[in-house]
Amino acid sequence: MALATRHGKDQALGRPFRFALGLPLVLADVDTDALGTFDGERPRPAPARETCRFKAEQGMAATGLTRGLASEGSFGPHPLLPLLPVGEEWLVFRDQEQDLVVEEHMLAPRTNFSHLRLAAGADPSPWLRRIGHPSHGVLVRASVPLDGPTIWRDLDHPDDLWQAIRRAAAASADGQALLETDMRAHRNPTRMASIRRLGFRLVRRLARRCPSCGSPGFGELETLPGLPCAWCGTATVLVLWEVLGCSSCGHRERQPRRDGRLQADPGHCPLCNP
Ligand SMILES: [Zn+2]
Ligand SMILES: [Zn+2]
Repeated sequence: MALATRHGKDQALGRPFRFALGLPLVLADVDTDALGTFDGERPRPAPARETCRFKAEQGMAATGLTRGLASEGSFGPHPLLPLLPVGEEWLVFRDQEQDLVVEEHMLAPRTNFSHLRLAAGADPSPWLRRIGHPSHGVLVRASVPLDGPTIWRDLDHPDDLWQAIRRAAAASADGQALLETDMRAHRNPTRMASIRRLGFRLVRRLARRCPSCGSPGFGELETLPGLPCAWCGTATVLVLWEVLGCSSCGHRERQPRRDGRLQADPGHCPLCNP
């Protein structure tokens, strides 16, 4: 199976696909950066989900294989809590012969996504510690570039980093350097761990066949609220049903929540605890 990546994602995805599904990964040399980069140097033409599908197709085309896998992430402020960063990760499996697309998606609960503006000579150490440098990579650029945008990368050594900050600040109209977390998987172990988790989830989904059409790729699609209050039976916002669905035929079924809970604590009830 083809995996289109230049960022070492086979580290995270190789084992689950090989051992659970017997599908060894073949690295496809596709310029995935052409589809947009995290640093904004190349804008992303499509949302993460479409980009991910397209990458899988490109990997298959490059290797001549009929199965492909690709991952894509996007990072930004949380839609409801703007001060909280959030990562969104997609993983797509494509099988041409079975005409199958199976996806897995999650909001990454942990990400180090962050940035910092600072003048030359100021101390970035507290921020660097927080984002996990040097095991996690950092990008440096001018805050307000005087001429063309320049980005300094791969700054693991403190001397390289200090020098990049000085040069970026000197090349900026406001005298400040902009430091950003490097979100490429091979420079971001936190993100790599999210991709690994997603890989296991996709393998589980692929291993489960649809009870209606028999095609692989059956699993949870969404959850529905409504768990009744233990005192008065009123529907709460807690999960009552898990909806499972097929990636091929659209068959859906719902099942009670996996943990077997039948009633909600009255503390969640809109009547008993308004
Ligand atoms: Zn109640
Ligand atoms: Zn089906």
